[in-house]
Amino acid sequence: MSNNVILLRFGELYLKGKNQSYFENMLKDNIRAKLDGIDCKLYFGRGRYVVKEYADHDEDEIIERVRHIFGLHSLSVARRCGYDLQEVADLAIELTPDVGTFRVSSHRSYKKYELDSMQLNKYIGEKVLQAKPALSVDLHTPDYVLNVDVREGGDIYMYDSAMPCAGGMPTGTAGDGLLLLSGGIDSPVAGYMLAKRGINITALHFHSYPYTSEAAKDKVVRLARILKDYSPSFRLYSISLTKIQEAIHKCCKPNYMITLVRRAMMRIAERIAAANGCGCIVNGESLGQVASQTMESINVTNAVVKLPVFRPLIGMDKDEIIDIARRIGTFETSIEPYEDCCTVFLPDYPLIKPEINKVEEQEARITELGALIEEAVAAIETIEL
Ligand code: ATP
Ligand code: MG
Repeated sequence: MSNNVILLRFGELYLKGKNQSYFENMLKDNIRAKLDGIDCKLYFGRGRYVVKEYADHDEDEIIERVRHIFGLHSLSVARRCGYDLQEVADLAIELTPDVGTFRVSSHRSYKKYELDSMQLNKYIGEKVLQAKPALSVDLHTPDYVLNVDVREGGDIYMYDSAMPCAGGMPTGTAGDGLLLLSGGIDSPVAGYMLAKRGINITALHFHSYPYTSEAAKDKVVRLARILKDYSPSFRLYSISLTKIQEAIHKCCKPNYMITLVRRAMMRIAERIAAANGCGCIVNGESLGQVASQTMESINVTNAVVKLPVFRPLIGMDKDEIIDIARRIGTFETSIEPYEDCCTVFLPDYPLIKPEINKVEEQEARITELGALIEEAVAAIETIEL
């Protein structure tokens, strides 16, 4: 069993008022679920949580897992000792460096401890200086800060640094959202960003098999698995757009293809969102990035749905999106060269500023559109992750 514990901290932001326990309970559940399968004990105290009694060889795995839990802002790996003052001094001496400057910063959540914070700072400081004469105290800009936490129940924790965690809001606290997940760079980032704000993500992928390949679908499955690490209840559905695209291709002017496909996607998405209790649709659009993402195109697409469509990347540049994709680990998969369904029957000149009445006129030519949408929705496939 390790002598270490892992201290988990969450932000203050949402901890005000009566909603505190709602957020905290969700966060606790998410931590329990994430650490499932690892032999350890979880302690949930006020304002701070502790993972303890784990095997040394599991420490890195625990850190890796908790760093992806939204709602946690930082963690520290700390050493544990008991209340005994000799034990406290021995551990402090072991942890501090031999030379340079240091400061002790004590904090008591157990107020009945025999020394108060100031006394404990002084006691530890003196013991360390006696043992390490080349070290000196600097209260303002020390090389090393020894943090000492005195907890209820007999534990004292010492640590020197904190590691940032994922931040954001506990997954689930913001409800459910339907992510339109392509195999590209943007939509996985969009999903990550709203998962970070507490949304449980259900994803929907459109394929155009046999125009798009099994490999293209497999890529989306692998992206979904990466996202599932951040949003544990992540589910993936897949729907074929092939017949709808063929019908548009047959009945409508070529340059309306993308606009009409995107409207069909939105109509289907709204149905799937309703069936899965999702309160919003999420996509990876960024203003002006391509013809289908001008304000006019977005408006014409948005006009077919009532549900709010969240576009977390709307104001971001591609390189900013790529930075996040790299950080969350989706970039390398996203850039694998497989075709997306949007590239099937791609016109030479897609509309940049579609006009709604003309779009509706073109769309009306597909007499069986309603039936094709029904058929596509009915054939939805759930993909195991
Ligand atoms: P991405 O990098 O996410 O593929 P993109 O820049 O290629 O985006 P578009 O192809 O216009 O842009 O797609 C815009 C958004 O529409 C995507 O971010 C995604 O949310 C959704 N989308 C596009 N293609 C699909 C698809 N095959 N299945 C599901 N959603 C899709
Ligand atoms: Mg795309």
